[in-house]
Amino acid sequence: MPSSEHLKEADRVMTICNACRYCAGFCAVFPAMERRRTFDTKDLVYLSNLCFECRACFYACQYAPPHEFAVNVPSALSRLRADTYADYAWPRILSGMYKNNAFLVGLVTTVCIVAAFVLTLVFQGSTTLFSAHQGAGAFYAVVPYGAMVFPAMVMFFYAIFALLAGFVSFWRRTRGSLSDLVNLPAFARAMKDAFGLQYMKGGGDGCNYPDEKFSKSRMWHHHLVFYGFLLDFGATTTAAFYHHFMHWDAPYPYLSVPVVLGTVGGVMMCIGTVGLLYLKSKSDLEPSEEKMLSLDRTFLVMLFLTSFTGLLLLALRETAFMGTLLVIHLGVVAGLFLTLPYSKFAHAVYRYGALIQNAIEIREEEQSRVVLG
Ligand code: SF4
Ligand code: SF4
Repeated sequence: MPSSEHLKEADRVMTICNACRYCAGFCAVFPAMERRRTFDTKDLVYLSNLCFECRACFYACQYAPPHEFAVNVPSALSRLRADTYADYAWPRILSGMYKNNAFLVGLVTTVCIVAAFVLTLVFQGSTTLFSAHQGAGAFYAVVPYGAMVFPAMVMFFYAIFALLAGFVSFWRRTRGSLSDLVNLPAFARAMKDAFGLQYMKGGGDGCNYPDEKFSKSRMWHHHLVFYGFLLDFGATTTAAFYHHFMHWDAPYPYLSVPVVLGTVGGVMMCIGTVGLLYLKSKSDLEPSEEKMLSLDRTFLVMLFLTSFTGLLLLALRETAFMGTLLVIHLGVVAGLFLTLPYSKFAHAVYRYGALIQNAIEIREEEQSRVVLG
């Protein structure tokens, strides 16, 4: 259950906004707010996950601090949103991962790297780990294929299952019936909004980020991370296809599809994550929430480390550093996937759920207008 103090503040702010309605065209939150007269927990949780903290409403608000109403929508909704991540975490016992996220994610990742090192040393020996290996199958000379792929698959499916379980809890709490999810037009509209980063464009001039001025830099860097991640996923999938169906062993040539996809995706993610970390370091703290900032920074650092160690491995794969870099990269990837359901990645899941619900509400509204008309 989200903190009652955070719910109370979000309710107070939304009630003032619902009387004012000046920000109606800024994002999806305000039209969704206007469909309600009062706000219970499920409404507030839904609205908080619909917000993506562009801050337009904060800088436009005549009731923002120092006004006595002290309306600060992005901060109030961010605080509540951070509560929902812990609230819907699966299994519940791990919701504490959100409390000291940077430390715990760092700890899990360090343990994964150390464990990968120790296991490789014990089972493969130091000569194998610290020698150069070249040609097809070079990676598997250091870490055998089964030892690399089996744990990776377990961690990947664990992360997917935990995130799906969180999504189902979020949907049950905010909308109720799971049968409402069988709505293809709503899925398609939410997909278009999510993949086009629709609401990050603001009115066309971008977000008020990192300060009051309109800027598209956050949107572009977000695009780089988002599509870079998809390209890297495409690289892994293609490599799996090559291995299982073509019987070609990694590492693949520099101009092969998996390496080109992985390199472009990795570079995009490095630039995007560093850019977003830089923007965060410069951003106005008043409309933000410290806990959310810490989640953002931790996740961005993990994405950066994943792509950077991958690129380093690619650059030095024919040298004696390959074994060490491979083990470090696998440890970082393991840390990323094990902590994925307890990281800022939850934002992608719950925000997508909120966008589907928003699309359903818009359709319901349009249909009721047709009936009344
Ligand atoms: S954020 Fe301020 S200006 Fe915007 S709707 Fe709310 S009260 Fe009105
Ligand atoms: S911060 Fe941006 S996304 Fe969030 S409610 Fe305000 S205008 Fe909407």
